[in-house]
Amino acid sequence: MVNIVLFGPPGAGKGTQSEKIIEKYKLTHLSTGDLFRKHLGEGTDLGKLARKYMDEGRLVPDEVVIGMVDDKLANTPDTNGFIFDGFPRTVAQAEALDKLMEKNGTQISGMIALDVAEEILKERIRERGKTSGRTDDQDESKIETRIKVYLDETLPVATYYEKQGKLSRINGVGTIEGIFENISKVIDSY
Ligand code: ADP
Repeated sequence: MVNIVLFGPPGAGKGTQSEKIIEKYKLTHLSTGDLFRKHLGEGTDLGKLARKYMDEGRLVPDEVVIGMVDDKLANTPDTNGFIFDGFPRTVAQAEALDKLMEKNGTQISGMIALDVAEEILKERIRERGKTSGRTDDQDESKIETRIKVYLDETLPVATYYEKQGKLSRINGVGTIEGIFENISKVIDSY
């Protein structure tokens, strides 16, 4: 199995690159943001719980996220591997993911981190907000909060994988194809 953590700040292009990775490597996409939006749309209890955090650009509590991921892993029996998108977002989530991987007899192959400067991120999120319908993309203060949460709580997750010798950094600015080529080289090396 190949299990990839795709990492980067909001607006880094994780969703776009995930689609290309899935198509080429036939992996299962596990985006916690997408899962939460699905629950929200269906009005489940989990969706109602997550809403207040998401609307403010804050993180949903770890135990809620971890439970949801555990569930998804347990309900995906036959796969070549997973691409984790938007997860883990805290060191506690990264530790939990290692345990979940072990429980499933596998492990994380590596983290691929997309680097994009803050000004470019804000510009991309504002643009996306015009069509995505996501309320967290349309409000300057929510965008600021998400970037701050990323810097304070999520960036240490890269160090977590770096210590395990599993971190690869990719420039997230350039053409979609060019970035994808660089990502493919990393995946082919696993
Ligand atoms: P972005 O496009 O900003 O990277 P996502 O679509 O991945 O955002 O997630 C949107 C929102 O969902 C986050 O701002 C957060 O409130 C919640 N969320 C998603 N994944 C996680 C997670 N792993 N831990 C906590 N909260 C999460």
